[in-house]
Amino acid sequence: MNAYFGKFGGQFVPETLMPILHDLEAAYIEHSQDPEFQSELDLLLTDLAGRQTPLYFAKRLTEHLGGAKVYLKREDLAHLGAHKINNALGQVLLAKRMGKKRIIAETGAGQHGVATAAACAALELDCVVYMGSEDKARQHLNVLRMELFGAEIIGVDSGSRTLKDAINEALRDYITNCTTSHYVIGSVVGPHPYPTMVRDFQSIIGNEAREQVMDREGRLPDHLVACVGGGSNAIGLFHPFVEDEVRMVGVEAAGTGLTSNSASLSLGTEGVLHGNLSYFLQDEQGQISKAHSISAGLDYPGVGPEHAHYKDSGRAEYVSVSDEEALDGFKLLSRTEGIIPAMESAHAIAQVAKLAPTLDKDDIVLVCLSGRGDKDMEMVARLEAESCL
Ligand SMILES: *Cc1c(COP(=O)(O)O)cnc(C)c1O
Repeated sequence: MNAYFGKFGGQFVPETLMPILHDLEAAYIEHSQDPEFQSELDLLLTDLAGRQTPLYFAKRLTEHLGGAKVYLKREDLAHLGAHKINNALGQVLLAKRMGKKRIIAETGAGQHGVATAAACAALELDCVVYMGSEDKARQHLNVLRMELFGAEIIGVDSGSRTLKDAINEALRDYITNCTTSHYVIGSVVGPHPYPTMVRDFQSIIGNEAREQVMDREGRLPDHLVACVGGGSNAIGLFHPFVEDEVRMVGVEAAGTGLTSNSASLSLGTEGVLHGNLSYFLQDEQGQISKAHSISAGLDYPGVGPEHAHYKDSGRAEYVSVSDEEALDGFKLLSRTEGIIPAMESAHAIAQVAKLAPTLDKDDIVLVCLSGRGDKDMEMVARLEAESCL
C-alpha cells in the first residue's frame, strides 16, 4: 500500500509506533480482502447502521434555488445520526479480527466517541475514550451516551484541554498497550494506513450514491459537494468518482474570519502533525493554531492528506463558508425540506445555495448530508436569541 498521496501523508511517528502501524497495515490488507470479513461488515452496516441510506431529490430546495437539481445523500439517517458509524464499525470489527480486546478512541465534539462506543458494545470490546476536559463539559450529552454504551471516558487536562490534547493522550495509550488495543481514528487523518483505511470504510457513501443517481437519472452528477473537517465524509463521497468527469467541492469552515476559522486547506500551510504531512493552521514557527467553527465537528486545525493532494493537483476545489452562512444553510434546509442538517453539513448546504443558482436546470448537484442537526438545536436557539437582543 502506498503511504503517500502525491507528497502528502506518510508516517511521521516515533520509532516505537512504526512496527504497530506496520502490523495494522498488514492486518487491514489481509482482512479487508477476506469475503467473510466483508459479509460480516455488510450485515452490521445493513441491520445495525441502517444502510443503505437514501438519495433524496430535494425538490423544494431545488425550486427555491432555481438552478441545478439538488440531491442529498442521507447520512443523517445512518445509526446515531451521522456517517461516523461506517468507519467505527469497520475499524472495531478489524480490531476484533486482530484479536484485540480493547479499543482506544479520542473525541472532540463526541460524535466519533459515541459511534466507537456503540460499535464496541455491539462487538463486545472494551472501550476507552479520551476527551479534553473542556470538551467533556461542553458535550455532556455525548459523554452520557458513551457511558451508557459501557465506555470509560478519560478527561484530558493538558494543553488547551480539547481534541488536539486528547489525540496526544490516545497515542500514548496506544504505544503502551498496542498488543491488546487498537486505536480507532475518526477521520482520514493521522499516519498511514489510517487515511486510506478510513477512506475505504467511508467510500460506501460514494459507492451507494453513484448507483442511486445512475438509477434515478441515468447519468453521473456534475458536482459533488461535502463539508470537510478531517475530510472523511467528503473523501467517502468523492473517492468512487475520482476517475470521472465530476467536479468535487470540499467546504471548510471559515468561522468568523481570518483569525478564527477551521479552513486548513484554504488558509493553512504545509506541515506535519499527528503523523502526517498535510495542510495545517499554524504560525510561522510551526506552532499549531486553535481552530474555530460554529460546528464542533469541523473544529480541527488540520485536514486529511488526500485532500491536500487533491487541492494541489486541482482535482478538487476547496471553498469556505462562514458561521453565519452555515446558520442560514441550517435554516434553509429545515424550512424547505423539513430536514434539520448537522451544523457541519449546513456548511455544504450553504455552498450549494451559492452554486446551484449559477448552474443549468439540467445539471445535477449531489451533496453529502453528513449528519442530522438535533444535536445543534440548543446552540442555534441560543444564537438566535442573542441576535434578537
Ligand atoms: C465529524 C463530523 C464531520 C466532520 O468530519 P469529516 O471527517 O470531515 O467528515 C462532518 N459532519 C458530521 C455530521 C460529523 O459528525
